[in-house]
Amino acid sequence: MIDTHAHLDMAEFDNDRTQLFDAMHESGITSVILPGVSAEKWPQQIHIADKFDCYFSLGIHPWFVPDDINAAIMKLDTMLQQYSNNKRLVAIGECGLDKLHHWSDNQLLLLEKQLLLAQNYQLPVILHAVKAHQQLLTMLARFKLIKGGVVHGFYGNSDIAKRYVSLGFKLGVGALILNPSAKKLRETVVNLPLEHFLLETDSPSMPPFDQPKSRNTPLILPRIVSEIAFLKKKTTVCILEQLNKNALQLFEL
Ligand SMILES: [Zn+2]
Repeated sequence: MIDTHAHLDMAEFDNDRTQLFDAMHESGITSVILPGVSAEKWPQQIHIADKFDCYFSLGIHPWFVPDDINAAIMKLDTMLQQYSNNKRLVAIGECGLDKLHHWSDNQLLLLEKQLLLAQNYQLPVILHAVKAHQQLLTMLARFKLIKGGVVHGFYGNSDIAKRYVSLGFKLGVGALILNPSAKKLRETVVNLPLEHFLLETDSPSMPPFDQPKSRNTPLILPRIVSEIAFLKKKTTVCILEQLNKNALQLFEL
């Protein structure tokens, strides 16, 4: 299993990171992508990726729009250059739009500049998209990214999902799928072919609905796989095989 989105570099894991990675390996979780969120966090993220043999992406999250966007993008560009031959660097992100948190037009500007970098470096993008699908879809249609990317933590309906897919994007499915009231996402998983989905947790965020106060970890991946298997009426082996293939293809792991 590959967790395509887990912030295991964050402080929430400082006390037991080694034990967590041991437990993950024991449960067949072989690989993780650590998404970038801000320049201040990149050094720790790369350090953790090296130490625990993970992949990472570099980018600026829409919650952390910097005061000087141009300077931050220049710094990102320099980092991308520096790591362009490093096999652990697999994407740009996470970047995107979030109408519920820290919303301003600067999120649009910051995203545009990161999509330009994705074009220049020919890397896929990891997108954070909350309540801003129309704006995001319009922008993505303008950029036509060769490598596409993933809309992580996808929660939308089949129509929105199909529009992302038509622009070369996959949809990241996490613990929300376990919630019986997440009807839109569950219908999307039923309706769209398996080749459009990726497995993720967004740890330490987005714990399952039945453990709302707990810290999320990649150890819940088997539950997510079982739920997708149930919805698709297929075996977990079959689900895992396709989801792994999707991750390997998109991120060229
Ligand atoms: Zn994230």
